[in-house]
Amino acid sequence: MNRYRISFSQRLFWSIFAMFLGFTACFLLFQYQREHEFAEEKLNNMLDNYNHQLYRIISRNNNDIAASVRLFISDISQKDLRVTIIDPQGKVLFDNSDASEFNNHNNRVEVKKARLQQKGFALRKSKTTGIKYYYVATNIGNYIYRSALPWELFTQKALTIDTRFIYFIGIMMLIFFVVLSRFTFSIGQTIARLRDFALNIKSDRISDNDYHFPNDELGDISQNIITLYHQQRKLKRQLTQNVAHELKTPVSSIQGYLETILNNKDLDDTKRQFFLERCYSQSTRLAYLLRDMSVLNRLDEASELFDVAEVNISTMLTEIEKECSQMMEDKKITSTLKIRENLVIKGNYSLLYSIFRNLFDNAIAYAGENTHIEVDGFKEDEDYCYFKFSDNGVGIAKEHLERIFDRFYRVDKGRSRKIGGTGLGLSIVKNAINYHKGQITAESILGKGVTFIFSLKKDCTKKESEAD
Ligand code: ADP
Repeated sequence: MNRYRISFSQRLFWSIFAMFLGFTACFLLFQYQREHEFAEEKLNNMLDNYNHQLYRIISRNNNDIAASVRLFISDISQKDLRVTIIDPQGKVLFDNSDASEFNNHNNRVEVKKARLQQKGFALRKSKTTGIKYYYVATNIGNYIYRSALPWELFTQKALTIDTRFIYFIGIMMLIFFVVLSRFTFSIGQTIARLRDFALNIKSDRISDNDYHFPNDELGDISQNIITLYHQQRKLKRQLTQNVAHELKTPVSSIQGYLETILNNKDLDDTKRQFFLERCYSQSTRLAYLLRDMSVLNRLDEASELFDVAEVNISTMLTEIEKECSQMMEDKKITSTLKIRENLVIKGNYSLLYSIFRNLFDNAIAYAGENTHIEVDGFKEDEDYCYFKFSDNGVGIAKEHLERIFDRFYRVDKGRSRKIGGTGLGLSIVKNAINYHKGQITAESILGKGVTFIFSLKKDCTKKESEAD
């Protein structure tokens, strides 16, 4: 394993956290900008107000500017307020800074603006004192009253506007950090367990109760994957056991008969003939078993290799009926075909044949004597044909009905083997129907017979339509 790889939960955590940080930073920036503008506007209004107040006080004090300004500043909290009064020509009439010489002030940005729009403000370094000021100039009767505060004071104020807000964001981030890390940690744990499981599959080191997952959707998915894995493993084991079991009986019988023949050189001809016939019948059974297994195998593994052609179902059924006629006659079984003459399905001939042939063979083998078989193409729509295949024989008990399509499942094991059944007939039927994009169900009342109801797509090469 790569030691420097970032785990999924860490990646999830850091990407969500980075996103959160990004959003918070944008929000803070926006908020700071707004607060800044608000503070600037407040400062503007305050200084403009000071200018008007100064004008009034100076007028009241018979134009004793210095005394008026001193009086005014003593009343306010900003002791470092700089006041300048400029006459219409730009000459500085008064300034309370330490500077001793003043040039023409009409070219100052805030003054220019005030001359044009009654009021102007600017943030700049004073050419006279060298200090960075925030200036607000007000034009009253062509005289400019200008109040200014050192910039540091303003920035300090603007920056410390709402520290509570910053604390709030900080606490929120902390909470978010904790919640997010817990959340990603739990996801990470589930994923790590699932990864362990996947790695253990490779080495086949999995026991049934190894894995517990949280009670959420991810847990459900993981639990399902594991359950499916166990089911598949059980099925695989069962299937291997079944195959071995099915092969064992005929092979050991053949071996036994051959041994008898080989060990008894003076066996009479009728007995020898008898044992050879037994051998032949067991080897036929083996051949059937291998044939059925290979059909199922092909359906499982390489269904794309089946040829597709137009198959006339009615003709095929008449053919099957004819092939089975002797067996049916022996058991006094009759049959009716209710299939329209030109019913054509585009599919694989041998699979379609297997479907109907297996159902016929089963009905003949299990339904019993004096029974009747009916094949009914009872419904059709644009894409599908629907069939009912029924007999009125012994039927199948409910508890078996669900399992008859399973591989090697037989209702009456002994009887089925004796008849030559492989236990694969109905699995082939089901898989062949699935190949033709159809479905099959079985209904039965014990003593009244079995009905198989199934559908077949008219053209199994056609893609599913949107409406399906
Ligand atoms: P088999 O090779 O044993 O015939 P199938 O898969 O074809 O295997 O059938 C499974 C079991 O279903 C059979 O063993 C039989 O007991 C039962 N079965 C199938 N068709 C019928 C039927 N028409 N009537 C009664 N039982 C049936």
